[in-house]
Amino acid sequence: MDHLAEKYLHPRKIPSTACSGCGLGQVHKKVLLAIEESGLGLDDVVWGTGIGCAGRQTFHTWRGDNFAGTHGRVYALATGLRVALPPEKKIVLTVGDGDAFGIGLLHLLHCARRNLGITVVVADNFGYQSTGGQFGYTTPPGMVTDSSPYGNREPGWFSEGSDIFAILKDAGATFLARHSSFDGEEAVKSLVLALANPGFSLVHIIYPCVTHFGAVSLKTRDREEIYRWFAGIFAEGEHPGPHFQSGIYHDARGKRPEFASALREWTKEFGREAGRA
Ligand code: SF4
Repeated sequence: MDHLAEKYLHPRKIPSTACSGCGLGQVHKKVLLAIEESGLGLDDVVWGTGIGCAGRQTFHTWRGDNFAGTHGRVYALATGLRVALPPEKKIVLTVGDGDAFGIGLLHLLHCARRNLGITVVVADNFGYQSTGGQFGYTTPPGMVTDSSPYGNREPGWFSEGSDIFAILKDAGATFLARHSSFDGEEAVKSLVLALANPGFSLVHIIYPCVTHFGAVSLKTRDREEIYRWFAGIFAEGEHPGPHFQSGIYHDARGKRPEFASALREWTKEFGREAGRA
């Protein structure tokens, strides 16, 4: 067991139950590294999880306080906790692409609109992989999946030049970054900045699903080949598939008031006014 797992995770949850070769473990590890680099301990973080591969693999692994939400609903629980908990307590959510950009999108947008003090880590495997590999909101166009045997024909959040980050930015998010699970220090640095933001942060990390996306969409079980394809979507130059830029997309930390703190201030002010009346 590595020192991070020993320090932060329930021993009975190690090793992870993710498929062998899955990139999820790397995503989980980066979040732990960022927590450690930020000097945070078990009592400083409340960890929430969603559904699907990302939720299942990180569910109840954190030895400190943690909670789980049904598909796309973890943000509602986090909003209540953010208002109830002291501002120095960090709330970290690990969710999948469906939780964030599909069924949970409306809740997520309201968190961004409020600039709610939470850090959302979206572990994106390009579809519904935990249920057998159906296409989802981030599945690249043309990809064969269990539910698109002739190729995915639905526009996704990253097709035709669109990017869901533009919508999140307009909604009011104050920190947005994107990485591949192969990114090392750079991804951890983004997560550290996300954790330090008093407002709403989201870090999108794309990782390889070797079982369904690899075998069905990329038509190979060869891990090296799958990893090469995923590395290629972040690389310069020609690549069959989508293209992503790694790094910080939007940084407006401190530019908007955090929702729960502003509410707390207003409540105090309101109490003073009422006392004077
Ligand atoms: S189904 Fe895919 S994403 Fe889910 S744990 Fe297995 S390899 Fe990872």
